[in-house]
Amino acid sequence: MAGMLYLVPTPIGNLGDISTRCRETLEQADFIAAEDTRVSLKLLNHLGIKKSLVSYFEHNKTEKGDMIVQRILAGETCALVSDAGSPAISDPGEELVKQCAEAGITVCAIPGPCAVITALSISGQSTGRFCFEGFLSTAKKSRREHLESLIGESRTMIFYEAPHKLLNTLEDMAAVFGADRPISLCRELTKLHEEVVRTTLGAAIEKYTETPPKGEFVLVVAGAVPVEKEKATPADAAARVAQLMEEGLSRKDAVKQTAQELDLPKNVVYDAALQV
Ligand code: SAM
Repeated sequence: MAGMLYLVPTPIGNLGDISTRCRETLEQADFIAAEDTRVSLKLLNHLGIKKSLVSYFEHNKTEKGDMIVQRILAGETCALVSDAGSPAISDPGEELVKQCAEAGITVCAIPGPCAVITALSISGQSTGRFCFEGFLSTAKKSRREHLESLIGESRTMIFYEAPHKLLNTLEDMAAVFGADRPISLCRELTKLHEEVVRTTLGAAIEKYTETPPKGEFVLVVAGAVPVEKEKATPADAAARVAQLMEEGLSRKDAVKQTAQELDLPKNVVYDAALQV
């Protein structure tokens, strides 16, 4: 019988956040695949668990992924952990889950610590609809392009960021979203120096120019406020139909195009067009 892959989240700062189920899964797995075996060894020592570890990270994931899949198919159970938080969320694991799913292996994700959800819930921003954007590129051009693709985004946007890149990112965000856009900077979550700064992009730039940022950050940025489009009137429709007919369109085609352009029902445009 084939084994299984368990995705085991680990604390993002506070060791007390490891759950009973995660601990039991680590104890019962045949082997643990870890992003950095040294980091995971510390956690396992803390938990008093002795287990065989294999490394699985960005630069060996292709060959190690095949090997892990073969071991699971042969009947072993693997627990995947990353350095902190939920595996496969901006962490190695995404590929392994795909590979296991393709091989017909059952994958079980245990819920637990994840910086994106912890930050969103504490941010004070709207939580009803949100999008997770992961890390922005370190290259200015692609970072700007990524942000520009989010100009009209009305959902709350969440980004992971490293402290040494924070100021550049905030400056680019202010240039694209405007300095008044609200942001919650969630720092060192679950750790001793946990801090949430609820402010605007412009004020955040001032703050971190004065005091260079330290620690791990999640940025929770408010979405754009949707701009109410003014509804076109029948008079607007009549004027547009007249213009299109002058340009050579038949009345029927001018009505059709105007209805589409002004987002009005065709019969309303048609009635207005009869005045033309
Ligand atoms: N898989 C992890 C998760 O579930 O959150 C994320 C891993 S990603 C490589 C690391 C990034 O997560 C950091 O650069 C930071 O943006 C964010 N992060 C992780 N722990 C954090 C913490 N305690 N406080 C704030 N941000 C944190």
